[in-house]
Amino acid sequence: MAEAMELEKERERERAITPRSEDYSQWYVDVVQRAELADYSPVRGCMVIMPYGYAIWENIQKALDKRFKETGHQNAYFPLFIPYSFIQKEAEHVEGFSPQLAVVTHGGGQKLEEPLVVRPTSEAIIGYMYAKWIRSYRDLPVLINQWCNVVRWEMRTRLFLRTTEFLWQEGHTAHATREEAEAETHRMLDVYADFAEREAAVPVIKGRKSEREKFAGAVYSLTIEAMMGNKWALQAATSHFLGQNFAKAFEIQFLDRDNRLKYCWTTSWGLSTRFIGAIVMVHGDDKGLRLPPRLAPIQAVIVPIYKSDEERSQVLEVARATLTKLEGAGVRAHLDDREEYTPGWKFHEWELRGVPVRVEIGPRDVEQEQIVLARRDIGGKEGKRAVPQARLVEAVTQLLDDVQEGLFKQALEFREKHTYEPKDYGEFKEAVERGFALAPWCGSAECEAQIQEETKATNRCIPLEQEPLPENAKCVRCGEPAKERALFARAY
Ligand SMILES: [Zn+2]
Repeated sequence: MAEAMELEKERERERAITPRSEDYSQWYVDVVQRAELADYSPVRGCMVIMPYGYAIWENIQKALDKRFKETGHQNAYFPLFIPYSFIQKEAEHVEGFSPQLAVVTHGGGQKLEEPLVVRPTSEAIIGYMYAKWIRSYRDLPVLINQWCNVVRWEMRTRLFLRTTEFLWQEGHTAHATREEAEAETHRMLDVYADFAEREAAVPVIKGRKSEREKFAGAVYSLTIEAMMGNKWALQAATSHFLGQNFAKAFEIQFLDRDNRLKYCWTTSWGLSTRFIGAIVMVHGDDKGLRLPPRLAPIQAVIVPIYKSDEERSQVLEVARATLTKLEGAGVRAHLDDREEYTPGWKFHEWELRGVPVRVEIGPRDVEQEQIVLARRDIGGKEGKRAVPQARLVEAVTQLLDDVQEGLFKQALEFREKHTYEPKDYGEFKEAVERGFALAPWCGSAECEAQIQEETKATNRCIPLEQEPLPENAKCVRCGEPAKERALFARAY
């Protein structure tokens, strides 16, 4: 009777996730909610990041912060509120961000003399402070990052992917020369790409944004773009070369070695909680999440299997010893010894939550001094094998590496399989229905807008690494001369 009820519950849970083929958007929401990554809040457009989701964010933070420090950056913190007039100092910046601003007009029951903007990004307030701090070439470069929240008023929101308030990091640097600032812009893009591919197992394409898609106030923006499970693109991080635009707006000047007063060259770069949405969509399947081991809050879950009390004590003893050994080896392990759930129910639960490796221990395994390892990226009998208890740590750490690599390989193969090089506009239109289209493009914003109107695909980037086009190459849409290929896709 009890078992039948458990089975019933199990089936319910399986049904709880809409298959991707049926409704991809609903699948995404189901996974995010059922895996307890995030939930909707009473404030429209804002989300609550739940402990399991926040633990992923903490692992993202650790992996990135380490890289930022290794490349010479320090963390600092700037205010949430920005005087309204600051936002207006850089013309393109104010135009780009105005529709999304949240403005505070009252404080302490009084109307404020000058309204305050809740930061949508911090170039303005940081630019003001840099102008104060930077005096001479000896003060340069300034390499600062901050971890914080920002607010951009959004009309249509999706958990993690587009929310009115989100968490991110924003790096802001100031340099003496253009060359240095450009090198920094590229260096940080490389840092993001390395993080995405090595830690999150998310393959990315590095590229330059078109004029139309660049950051409001930048000279140019660099981006990493990833393919999601429905073949749409997602901008996973950006790095902006701001030239002297903000330096001139905020008077960030320094006395150079030649005793002349010059404007600094600045950059900014950011990655947000949106990246968690990318992890869900790049790796997830119809059973739920599949987390890359390096970012997974729990890398290995131990599920004890027993029926009688005698079996229970034997199995739990081995299970506890297994936990101690794995933790001792630095594996983020968890023992699920809850009495009120069956092993089968627990299997589904941890599959849904995307734990990379499951360790099963039953009476037969205790007797044979072995454990059974199951990998989330493959699943079924194929992904399962028994190993001697003596080889536990070695086998689990190796398997975690294998899953990390396996997820990356699967995602890369998927992207390559769904990336097309259409020969004409007819082929192009079909290609963007089925994935990414890499095509010669004239560079005109008007042409880009037409493409979007006709196909719903946007220009994701002009990939940095690409073969030179043959001479006389023509734009895929308008037939004007093309110098480079651009990547087009439907996007979040
Ligand atoms: Zn064109």
